[in-house]
Amino acid sequence: MIKILNNLRGTITPRLDLPFGKLSIEPGAALAMENDTILAIAPPETLRQQYPGAETIDGQNCWAMPGFVDPHTHPVFYKTREEEFEMRIAGKSYEEIAAAGGGIRNSVRALRQASFDELVALAYRRMRIFTEYGTTAIEAKSGYGLSLEDELKSLRVIKKLSALLPLTVVPTFLGAHEVPDEYRDRRDKYVDLLVEEMIPRVAEEKLAVFCDVFCEKNVFTVAQSERILLAARDHGLVPKLHADELHPTGGAELAAKVRAISADHLLKVSDRGIAAMKDAGVAPVLLPGTAFFLAKTEYAPARKMLAAGLPVALATDFNPGSSMIQNMQLILTLAALQMKMTPEEVIAGATLNAARAIALEKELGSLEAGKKADVILLDIPGYKYLPYHYGVNHVKMVIRHGQVVHRAGE
Ligand SMILES: [Zn+2]
Repeated sequence: MIKILNNLRGTITPRLDLPFGKLSIEPGAALAMENDTILAIAPPETLRQQYPGAETIDGQNCWAMPGFVDPHTHPVFYKTREEEFEMRIAGKSYEEIAAAGGGIRNSVRALRQASFDELVALAYRRMRIFTEYGTTAIEAKSGYGLSLEDELKSLRVIKKLSALLPLTVVPTFLGAHEVPDEYRDRRDKYVDLLVEEMIPRVAEEKLAVFCDVFCEKNVFTVAQSERILLAARDHGLVPKLHADELHPTGGAELAAKVRAISADHLLKVSDRGIAAMKDAGVAPVLLPGTAFFLAKTEYAPARKMLAAGLPVALATDFNPGSSMIQNMQLILTLAALQMKMTPEEVIAGATLNAARAIALEKELGSLEAGKKADVILLDIPGYKYLPYHYGVNHVKMVIRHGQVVHRAGE
């Protein structure tokens, strides 16, 4: 089945053959798709001649762009945590809230009480919002179970949702998100459990592609993180890392050492860490929504990483504690204003580079023949308008794998 998306203002996309931060803009172009794949981007009359009898989809005078790829999310949780939001307003820091029994361990206690079906229903409603805001692929982490049984439950929820939702969902095992209550006075025993039981089981059941660790002061040390990620690698899971977020621990250097696909957060990354990531080909994933939601004045040094030639990616970090947002469009505005990324850089960072950070750049992240037809239509006069007019949803239509899966107002 061939479909032509016509009556577009044109197409906006980064491309694999362009340097990072350069977009290809084709005013007046139309886009042909066959089944789930992009066939061609060309003037509408050319496509009509080439594919007579193709079905047409009205582009409503919008710009077409690749669907957003969100390479860092934590969507499987039970309770929301608006009471901690209120504590932050009153001046408590994220770490003070965690020390008072809030934070990740609060979510863990709640998730352990929830059934598989309850979690599927809740996460389904939350994850539909990704689609409404133009996201067509996400990475989704476990990490609020922190026991073999509850981590497997979370990963099975992710697997179930990837079949139910019009969204590519890449699963990540994050059993090393925090040390659970019952292991607080014997933390290395929890690392033993991760390495000896949880990772082998997750790999055996093929429930995750990546293995992530929250490498942070008072969470997992660099040495513990290395042990966990090397065990993951031995079982065929690709390492990822929450690195250098609250304190400079050397997380970026560790990401390079274990050949992680990405290092995420990086507010406190060192110059040595940036150089090591560049040498090892580690993608930086920056999460300005988290810094914003934690009311920080400091953001990750994106310009330094861009100057070093790193392909900076952006993500929401959607989670109930530190970043309750599914909307990548607002993330682009925050990245532009707070990290001084250009409109071109934020668009590339939320599409092609985000796909790179989850190893899907050959399939997703740009409008190119042969790639998956994940296309969003935006009611904007041009790409610079996208991060500029903020806090509204510019998405008029979402096409995923060649199928219209969302229309604004429906
Ligand atoms: Zn995270």
